[in-house]
Amino acid sequence: MLDMDGTVLDLAFDNFMWLHHVPEQFAEARGMATDEARRHLYAKFEEMLGRLEWYCLDHWSEFLGLDVARLHREQHHRIGYLPGAEDFLQRVARHELRLLLVTNSHLEVLEIKHEATGIKAHFDGIHSSHEFGAPKESQEFWHALREAEGFDPATTLFVDDTRRVLDSAAKFGIEQLVEVSRPDTSEPERDRGEYAAVEGLKDLL
Ligand SMILES: [Mg+2]
Repeated sequence: MLDMDGTVLDLAFDNFMWLHHVPEQFAEARGMATDEARRHLYAKFEEMLGRLEWYCLDHWSEFLGLDVARLHREQHHRIGYLPGAEDFLQRVARHELRLLLVTNSHLEVLEIKHEATGIKAHFDGIHSSHEFGAPKESQEFWHALREAEGFDPATTLFVDDTRRVLDSAAKFGIEQLVEVSRPDTSEPERDRGEYAAVEGLKDLL
């Protein structure tokens, strides 16, 4: 099971969108200074972190008064795989493994990313937490996923770049957990924590 953003795809796109582009567009629409818009939105982001609404495009479009999907589409050229990730997916496909994409991404963002990269073609199954109404950070999500996929936590490998998601998977009983320590190629590698870590999927081969 692989997470999408920051595990297969470069988180540089999402960070650019949410930390720079969206606040700039918001500032422009409201006639605010960009710094002021950033402070206002970063505080809001902090408050929403880990909740399903945080990943919901409709929520943000309504809150910001901006067409966030359109903003994503306009910047689609910035969407890309992490180094070696596509090669990893192609190699795994040669083995008898069921490969699942397990993401908190909103379905519309997933579609935009698929249009830019063809990511969906690499997976045997795709699950967004929006289909279950619960984020990966919750136990509810993992119960619903097991219901849908019937996987065995003892023989499942799950890779993600978000520690609170790995904590949730660990609590559910998934035994093999790997953290991606460089989810964003525009940033240096993060400090490694308690989970087994690789810079990127390429290092799992
Ligand atoms: Mg991620």
